[in-house]
Amino acid sequence: MNQVRTTCPYCGVGCGLIATPKGEIIGDKDHPANFGRLCSKGAALGETLGLEGRLLAPKIDGKRADWDKALDLVASKFSDAVRDHGPDSVAFYVSGQLLTEDYYVANKLMKGFIGSANIDTNSRLCMASSVAGHKRAFGTDTVPVNYTDLEEADVIVLVGSNLAWCHPVLFQRILAAKEQRPSMKIITVDPRKTATGKAADLHLSIRPDGDTALFNGLLVEIDRRGAVDQKYVNAHVNGFNVSLAMAEITNSADTGLSDAELRAFYDLWIGAEKVVTVFSQGVNQSVAGTDKVNAIINCHLATGRIGRPGMGPFSITGQPNAMGGREVGGLANMLACHLDIENPNHRGTVQKAWRSPTICSKPGLKAVDLFQACEQGKIKALWIISTNPAVSMPDANAVIHAIGKVPFTVVTDVTHTDTTALADVLLPATAWGEKSGSVTNSERRISRQRAFLLAPGEAKPDWEIICEVAKRMGWHNAFSYTSPADIFREYAEISGKAAIHGRDFDIGGFAAISDTEYESFEPQQWPVSRNTISFERFFENGKFFHHDAKARMLPVSSPTVRPDAIGVFRLNTGRIRDQWHTMTRSGKSARLSQHLAEPFVEMHPDDANQIAIKETELLEITSPQGRAVVRVIFAPNVQRGTVFVPMHWSSANSSTDRKSVVEGKRVDPGGRRSIKKKNK
Ligand code: SF4
Repeated sequence: MNQVRTTCPYCGVGCGLIATPKGEIIGDKDHPANFGRLCSKGAALGETLGLEGRLLAPKIDGKRADWDKALDLVASKFSDAVRDHGPDSVAFYVSGQLLTEDYYVANKLMKGFIGSANIDTNSRLCMASSVAGHKRAFGTDTVPVNYTDLEEADVIVLVGSNLAWCHPVLFQRILAAKEQRPSMKIITVDPRKTATGKAADLHLSIRPDGDTALFNGLLVEIDRRGAVDQKYVNAHVNGFNVSLAMAEITNSADTGLSDAELRAFYDLWIGAEKVVTVFSQGVNQSVAGTDKVNAIINCHLATGRIGRPGMGPFSITGQPNAMGGREVGGLANMLACHLDIENPNHRGTVQKAWRSPTICSKPGLKAVDLFQACEQGKIKALWIISTNPAVSMPDANAVIHAIGKVPFTVVTDVTHTDTTALADVLLPATAWGEKSGSVTNSERRISRQRAFLLAPGEAKPDWEIICEVAKRMGWHNAFSYTSPADIFREYAEISGKAAIHGRDFDIGGFAAISDTEYESFEPQQWPVSRNTISFERFFENGKFFHHDAKARMLPVSSPTVRPDAIGVFRLNTGRIRDQWHTMTRSGKSARLSQHLAEPFVEMHPDDANQIAIKETELLEITSPQGRAVVRVIFAPNVQRGTVFVPMHWSSANSSTDRKSVVEGKRVDPGGRRSIKKKNK
């Protein structure tokens, strides 16, 4: 087999790679996300291709079974549960690691044929707040910024984003642009001065959850300095006055920043028209995540700094296909193609296109609620696909207990994980390098993942497994696809119909794509409609997706800041440079493990002294949810009163350090997603 052009399976930058069956990986110079660059994780992909730990055959109750028997059992258990207890008695929990075609058929099966919206995804944890914030402001989940805007900006603000470690190639692109144009300024907003903060011109060590206060303060200052783009606001924006009034009563002390720091931030942000405000999980993963997103968007709308080169609010996605999952309706409160479950016309369009016997009419259970429903005995059959909630969900021990209460649990995955140990039926899926389909990156660019390895053992692609179960449940015609290209064509066709409802997501131009064209598909940003010859940027001339075509500024208030007590710390979590999620792939590379080899807690030395902790000692962290034991690293860059623990380690590679067992499961009422910090 020759060299194959594919896409990295890790972060939402979506870098193009060239791979060979011998496991040689290089960056794809022609891919517009990375132009040949790779980070340490992407470059080490060849070291993670071995079969160690792989699932190679189906299992029922831990014993090897053949595919027919396993699929028949899954189909009959789900059919029985639906018949005896109704459609809402079953649930799927899926993943931003899935390819778009896999995601699409899972969503179609649950929402259009089983008739429930009980399908949610681990993307709920990382970006539901951004989705909700976009929908509130723009009327739909539109990301209006491109990677080239980062290179054209005069000021880049990175809020809750350790881009240098979590989206390294994008950070490399920014640094290269700054080297060419040193006048470009980088500002970081983060309680921790990370590797990203160390490269910034201005670092704001904000108090946890102080982001809304910061951007409300900015809005007030924009108004005070006469920097409102009144023409843009009058023509394209509702809600300015009420949002400003709310911002004016926000206490700037909630930011924890000095007047001089605030002034420096306001001067830079207001002083340069070309500003991109990048935000990621540090904003999203909070009980007030959605309000933070809208506080940021408010400032861009008030100044008309959106929809033009070098400016705009930019949510960076965490996983390789988190964006694709949003597009296909992988979240429990969305239909395919950015259509709304609650809208009967939208439901009608999707049901007609699917020729389905039913369609869900209300949102389903979201991640935290879904596992609580398992605990309460409401879920009779659960299918977990390509994700490891026994490690990655907050209050993970409770999640393990809840899965144990479900009478029938199926897990599809590539390797053995903490979650596969809980399965009644285990189905082996093909991994990256063995499967084929498409993904969408943070700038709405669709790229192909292509196979360059043969499927090992009896592993099958996720789309095929899901369709086989659907057929056995009685829906043969609707799931008789022969290839990912077949699925992609149907999806593209439906997106063209969704556009009739005034939605942004439209790839109808690919509805008649041939198998050959799909195979040679070049990375492409959407929309690509059947009728539009050329596409202008979103929102350059307004044209938002609310009924009046205007955007909404939202009045948002800063969350209450609780007083700190001695010995009680706020826990922040995040990624490290060389590991990915629960380490099921990146953990296979010895080289990647050399960076930071064991789980740790970063703590300010003054805090450590106060509670008599020495560096390198093992420290027990406790919360109402559980305990973890980790190595102490002194870190003056960590804000006093807070600690940082990385998210990656699981019981597969360590016995007492799973930080997710100490996380609480409070959710954001705007995005209804879990909080992963501030636990006490
Ligand atoms: Fe992969 Fe992200 Fe690194 Fe690119 S930046 S190589 S997509 S992990």
